[in-house]
Amino acid sequence: MAAFGRQLALTRTSGVCQIATGSPVAPGPTFRVWDFWNNRWLRRTLRAARIGALSVSIFGVGYSTGASDVLADPTEFRRKKALSLLKNIHAFDAEGKARLCEETSEEVQAVRRVLPRVLKAARAQVGILQEEIQDAIKQQGEASYTQQQDLDSLKRARKRLESWSDDGFLLADVNTPNAFVTPMLPRTIFVHRGIFRIHRLAEPEALHAGAEVFVLQDGWKKAKLVSESQEQWSALLGDSLGEDSETITVKKEDVRILQTRNLVENDEQLAMLLSHELAHAVHDHGYESLNILTTAYSLELVLLSVLDPTGMLEFLLEIAAGAIARYAFVLPLGRCDEMEADATGLKICALAGYDPRLATKFLDRFALFEGYTGPTWTSTHPATEARIKALKDAEADAVERFQQHKEKQAP
Ligand SMILES: [Zn+2]
Repeated sequence: MAAFGRQLALTRTSGVCQIATGSPVAPGPTFRVWDFWNNRWLRRTLRAARIGALSVSIFGVGYSTGASDVLADPTEFRRKKALSLLKNIHAFDAEGKARLCEETSEEVQAVRRVLPRVLKAARAQVGILQEEIQDAIKQQGEASYTQQQDLDSLKRARKRLESWSDDGFLLADVNTPNAFVTPMLPRTIFVHRGIFRIHRLAEPEALHAGAEVFVLQDGWKKAKLVSESQEQWSALLGDSLGEDSETITVKKEDVRILQTRNLVENDEQLAMLLSHELAHAVHDHGYESLNILTTAYSLELVLLSVLDPTGMLEFLLEIAAGAIARYAFVLPLGRCDEMEADATGLKICALAGYDPRLATKFLDRFALFEGYTGPTWTSTHPATEARIKALKDAEADAVERFQQHKEKQAP
């Protein structure tokens, strides 16, 4: 028993394990049987395995909690998820209510007109891609690993698109030109109202009494100008501009007018935008990046546990983990995803009977709006030269399809 106690009281000196006894004992082969336990790499491997297992089970717990939430009440789960995503894009008013465009608005009507057509075309596109791969497999005699993977992902895409309803979109009343799909809420396209028209406050060139303007009064407020003096305007403050409106005076430089700029101007341009978003679903892009993100987090934990015995680096990196995973894994993938979604988007557009030649013009138009609003469709979807070139390359094929579609439609 005493010998066992002595064996456990191990100390480490210069990387060699010795038994602590009253007098120094030269490390002899008799006691080396415990040495393996103090082996640095063994300990690190065990630690990595432990953390790996831990992260897998944490993911598992999260996954099953999510899954049970979905199973308990799918509609409520989607509603909650939609609300949290709307919050992310600031589509909430001061009272905390989601800001969505009215059903009767021009914007909602436009999406209602175009989405069913592009959805149908996206489903057809999945069928075309499946046939292409199956033909290739027939010629080779057997499916390669990548082909098998592509077929699996198309199968998932088909399921997702088949259950994507014609009202699978949310039109948020937000003044930024953006649209996106996310694997967090499948079968829904988020469209910002700013995609159609954005408002901005501009310096007025000329003003006159009676003009409706915005004035700087604890933030920009609506007002109606009444009369002018040398440096100032007197104005009636308020939305209703009724008789009980408060009269104020403002400096001339604190007066702005509301300017509206149109972006997506016709159904063709809207079709391209929606087709691009559906193309992400066709190629299963969200699914891939979610997987990669989870793998990145787990891998990071394991690597850190091996390379960082003090835990200091781990602590620092944990804080930045989200950003690191995003920049290292998700964004580079995102960029080539965008090109693929453009090319497929063009084809979907053409299949739906919208002229794909409008697409590149449409990107140029968006580039004009970079810089003065929040994230735009072109910053989440950077309009790089490479991207525009890829679009042009894909155009010829899409135009051919569009002509075929037109011929089919012709009496
Ligand atoms: Zn995209």
